[in-house]
Amino acid sequence: MRIFTFDTTLRDGTQGESVSFSVDDKLLIAEKLDELGIDYIEGGWPGSNPKDKEFFARAKNLRLKHAKLTAFGATRFAKNPVETDTNVAELIAADTPVISIFGKTWDFHVERALGITLEENLLLISDTVGYLKAHGREVVYDAEHFFDGYVANPVFALRTLEAAKQAGADVLCLCDTNGGTLPHRLTEIVSDVRARFDGVLGIHCHNDSEVAVANTLMAVEAGVTHVQGCLNGYGERCGNANLCSVLANLELKLGHTTVGPDKLQHLTAAAKFIAELANLPLKNEQAYVGSSAFAHKGGIHVSAVLKDASTYEHVKPESVGNRQRVLLSDLSGRSNVNYKLEKLGLGEHLPKDARHELLQRIKMMEHEGYDFETAEGTFELLVRQAAHPEFHPFDVVSYEVSTKLDRSKTTRVPGSDESITAATVTLRVNGDVHSHTATGSGPVHALDICLRQCLASVYPAIADVRLTDYKVRVLGAKGGTESKVRVLVEWTDHRMSWSTVGVSNNVIEASWRALVDALRLELIRMREKQPAASSSRDYSWAV
Ligand SMILES: [Zn+2]
Repeated sequence: MRIFTFDTTLRDGTQGESVSFSVDDKLLIAEKLDELGIDYIEGGWPGSNPKDKEFFARAKNLRLKHAKLTAFGATRFAKNPVETDTNVAELIAADTPVISIFGKTWDFHVERALGITLEENLLLISDTVGYLKAHGREVVYDAEHFFDGYVANPVFALRTLEAAKQAGADVLCLCDTNGGTLPHRLTEIVSDVRARFDGVLGIHCHNDSEVAVANTLMAVEAGVTHVQGCLNGYGERCGNANLCSVLANLELKLGHTTVGPDKLQHLTAAAKFIAELANLPLKNEQAYVGSSAFAHKGGIHVSAVLKDASTYEHVKPESVGNRQRVLLSDLSGRSNVNYKLEKLGLGEHLPKDARHELLQRIKMMEHEGYDFETAEGTFELLVRQAAHPEFHPFDVVSYEVSTKLDRSKTTRVPGSDESITAATVTLRVNGDVHSHTATGSGPVHALDICLRQCLASVYPAIADVRLTDYKVRVLGAKGGTESKVRVLVEWTDHRMSWSTVGVSNNVIEASWRALVDALRLELIRMREKQPAASSSRDYSWAV
């Protein structure tokens, strides 16, 4: 069945504690959701804040191919006739084809929060829905606190839906606003509503009981054809139903059509894009789209996955645009290492003994605190060195780095760092000794400059390699400032990126190991790409 998708990342999603989007971000996200094939994009509440008002003003220039932009707001205030209610006027002014309007379902809320009679509340709903329909809008009626309201007073809860329906609402959306309803109860209530109302029913679930996705799926099974949620499950308190999981489950498990199989392959990219703009890391464990969703660590799992991926994967990772990963860890078995060797195209180059030695070395380094799961570059270096033990692009003779603070100078540039870092590096390259000294904005920067200067005359292509990120993690807090640290450095050569890792009690030494490994790896890769004849002309490789 065709199930309509309603994304509220830009409205309910931004009510999540750590989520904030600028107007520019919101416009980019709206375009991304449109590309993904979402049917409705709820952009915000134009009556509630200037940012959302600006969004709707600028969104008129968006060229959405498929999605219908939706403005969100409340039923009219009790004291205002609908024609003069400013919130309702803002909704019309937002000029969107669709308006979602929420009204009270729960008698307790009507009497306590609004302080009006139940009959008056029904009028607020029908007046507002009717007015928006008279202005030619498609109207999604959000029945706020529907499930709690139904439990408290089912007759009145159903009358609120009836009021919206009679006034012309196109969708009656049942909201589990507090997120407290469990799937079996929710299914019973949705089934009762389905039996009483024709037309499109919707579902809007919050995740306070960790079952927002399950509730959404159960609602669909009970006859709902309009699903609301947020990508990555952002949203107020514990979040909204995670639309990534809702879409994937509906499409891949339940045989329904949402965005369709082709667009579903953009799901992981869209989830990452939105996480990036939210400046929140996409959780590795996030179902379907997280980087661990199809990652295999245990050796037995890996050997089975290599034979047939379906043994430990519930769907094909490509169906949602994700990929299978095999992790190296102290759970590593031979299968993991073999998998990586095949991926690097080095399968035939490494004899059995060397493979065994490599596995032992990986396990030992992991015990010391190395993490190859994030630093695949360091693993690749170990493999390539094991395959070509005769090749040493360079040897380290010495390095030295010092940082000093000198406040005696009066000519300091305002805003600049007061400390100065200088480094000296001496390498042996092809039997010749190269030494360079440089200053940098910190020890890693100064050492990186020196290393490149030492290597540049022999290996000019190394100039293309750039450091893009640097992270330090303290391993075990017990040792205080004496703790071991793990340094992760990310690199790019404009074509691909990789990470290397160094571990030591000394943060400079750990950084140095990660720096040296990255450049060694790049030099070994370059050598393998060089045809034999030209390599001897361009570079004096020490073989
Ligand atoms: Zn909500």
